[in-house]
Amino acid sequence: MTYVVTENCIKCKYMDCVEVCPVDCFYEGENMLVIHPDECIDCGVCEPECPAEAIKPDTEPGLEQWLTLNAEHAKAWPNITVKRDPPADSKEWDGKPGKMQHFSPNPGSGD
Ligand code: SF4
Ligand code: SF4
Repeated sequence: MTYVVTENCIKCKYMDCVEVCPVDCFYEGENMLVIHPDECIDCGVCEPECPAEAIKPDTEPGLEQWLTLNAEHAKAWPNITVKRDPPADSKEWDGKPGKMQHFSPNPGSGD
């Protein structure tokens, strides 16, 4: 089992999650974060910390697409453990439908 970051992180990227993870398994893309499924110890601490409610346990149904996206991009993106300021327009994007069309495969800057 692992926790996964899902669609509502895209363009919100609040980053409250990274500072609570005991094993530092968040990785940063240009406009969202992902969790490395082989490093996550399923502690669940990050889930309530996400203001966008974008972090889910993979035991929830229908998350296959997000599990694959997290696993693939965690291998390519840089590790992030320190929270930075979120994008200026984070709140405007929170809860918007269809954010996957805005997903960027490009890496973020990491720590
Ligand atoms: S706190 Fe939530 S919205 Fe922010 S980066 Fe983490 S998963 Fe994404
Ligand atoms: S569930 Fe725990 S180990 Fe997994 S990403 Fe969240 S804080 Fe890190």
